[in-house]
Amino acid sequence: MSDNCLFCKIVAGQIPVVKLHEDDELLAFADINPQAPTHFLVIPKRHLSGMGTVGPADEALIGKLMRVGAELARANNAPSFRLVINNGVEAGQTVFHLHLHVLAGRPMRWPPG
Ligand code: AMP
Ligand code: ZN
Repeated sequence: MSDNCLFCKIVAGQIPVVKLHEDDELLAFADINPQAPTHFLVIPKRHLSGMGTVGPADEALIGKLMRVGAELARANNAPSFRLVINNGVEAGQTVFHLHLHVLAGRPMRWPPG
């Protein structure tokens, strides 16, 4: 657990969330400020600050993160969905514990803003 990390506190059960999935490595929960009818986050329980610091040792975990995010979207009857990982302040990252956004349920434009 990283000090003062919001998502580590969520993993530790110190902040309540609406959970969609939990296993030994990952937690998925509803985003508190949804940007689409379906918007949830999938995070590794282990603290990783973002994609800017991942390495070969994290490859299996990141692959699982993507697979579980897609499976949860499909289980939610979302044939079209968007998987997003913001990395760095200019890319819109506000919580520095790696997280995958899963968005669905409305038309989405490309490129994103
Ligand atoms: P990002 O801007 O990519 O770092 O995404 C951070 C996301 O975390 C935002 O979509 C927030 O709405 C979401 N968020 C922040 N605090 C909470 C919380 N307590 N529970 C659920 N989602 C949260
Ligand atoms: Zn953390």
